[in-house]
Amino acid sequence: MTYFPLFHNSQQLKALIVGGGAIAKRRAKSLLEAGVACDLLATSVSEEVTSLIEEAGGTITIDAYTDDDIMQGYNLVLALTDDRAVNQEIAQHAKAMGLMVNVADAPDDGNVIFAATIDRAPLTIAINNGGASPVLSSILRQQLEQFVPKAYGQLATLVGRYRQPVKDALPSTADRSTFWHDVLQGAVAEAVFSGKHDEAEALLKNALASADKVSAQGEVYLIGAGPGDPDLLTLRAFRLLQRADVVLYDALVSDGVMDLVPEHIERVYVGKRRADHSVPQTGINQLLVDYAKQGKRVARLKGGDPFIFGRGGEEIETLAQQQVPFQVVPGITAASGCSAYAGIPLTHRDYAQSVRFVTGQLRDGTVNLAWPELVVEGQTLVFYMGLKSLPQICEQLIAHGMDAQMPVALIEKGTTQDQRVLVSDLTGLPAMIEAAQVMSPSLFVVGRVVSLHDKLAWFTSQRH
Ligand code: SAH
Repeated sequence: MTYFPLFHNSQQLKALIVGGGAIAKRRAKSLLEAGVACDLLATSVSEEVTSLIEEAGGTITIDAYTDDDIMQGYNLVLALTDDRAVNQEIAQHAKAMGLMVNVADAPDDGNVIFAATIDRAPLTIAINNGGASPVLSSILRQQLEQFVPKAYGQLATLVGRYRQPVKDALPSTADRSTFWHDVLQGAVAEAVFSGKHDEAEALLKNALASADKVSAQGEVYLIGAGPGDPDLLTLRAFRLLQRADVVLYDALVSDGVMDLVPEHIERVYVGKRRADHSVPQTGINQLLVDYAKQGKRVARLKGGDPFIFGRGGEEIETLAQQQVPFQVVPGITAASGCSAYAGIPLTHRDYAQSVRFVTGQLRDGTVNLAWPELVVEGQTLVFYMGLKSLPQICEQLIAHGMDAQMPVALIEKGTTQDQRVLVSDLTGLPAMIEAAQVMSPSLFVVGRVVSLHDKLAWFTSQRH
């Protein structure tokens, strides 16, 4: 590591900026915002920078840099002129006086550099790559910003107020560390993130009041994992996965999503297939309760959205009955993901004013659906779990009056690198999918919107 990160008390910094160009303006702004006292020396400087500095009580000297006398009384010098030799000279003098000096565009001429920062006051994250690429730091900063919810600052402020009381209540460092981990990764943090500040503080007070007796309370996150592409996971899902102790997952959760689960987390497969239910639903409901009651944070990962043909409701009903805390994280449901990746808008002003998600699962060998409600002009139908019954579904739709030439798309393994889209019409699709040996998971979309696929398809999987 060439540059060691230190955070300076900005109230005690006194900076001399040498130079009056664009970089000087940027630096002056960020230093003044942080409360650093700044003066400026330059041969010329804009009115904007002049008033910025003067309003903050600093002085402007219009002159060329000549000797190091001017550096007296400062602890930070910024050499930002457009003359490299002058900057080098300033840096040499500053270093000789034992000062911190930053040089524009030549970090190694100086001894300190500016970091790309994320400001969630009082929380600050600073990124530096030794001056190799400020753009890279700034890209990384943008990415990190997405993973650090704005509310982290509020969380830091809240817990900051309780630092001393917790120290008094828990003299052992190890106990305090456990306490803070639970608070910062548990219900208190989640309450802050969802805007419930009073509740967060009440929870924190409770935790503190019983700090010496509590065994950690477990909880369950019912998380929608989306249709396959791991990039479609929500930020909240990602964050909760990082702090789970155990993950219970289905067959539908893609390998790509499972790769985002940290290595050390216990994984339990509770997948269901049509014929072989490896863990029956009641067993899953109970497993969630049991893990949570052992004090574990349980991530229950389900394909797509947990509340759309996901039986998510049943799982949390059991949790609610047993008073296990839980939260639900929506996911992108297969219909949205697959249609987007297939270039088939589910609604369209010219073709469809409504959309219906239908389960096509066979019950006792028949498909019991309210056919007349499905055969409606201007409505898109999306069939989940209908692969086996697809020929019957097409037949029934025609029998109930749907145009036999109605376009139909079958989307296999949508949003993944193996996605296939087969387009035909109600009469032709059964034979087409038979020939193509379509696999699960697949869904099909029935409606005029399917005709847009030709024009709007954009995603090409690796396989096709
Ligand atoms: N809760 C899930 C649906 C579970 S039912 C969701 O919201 O998406 C399972 C059915 O979803 C499958 O039989 C299939 O019809 C559909 N499905 C899920 N993922 C899919 C994918 N990647 N491609 C095509 N269909 C998918």
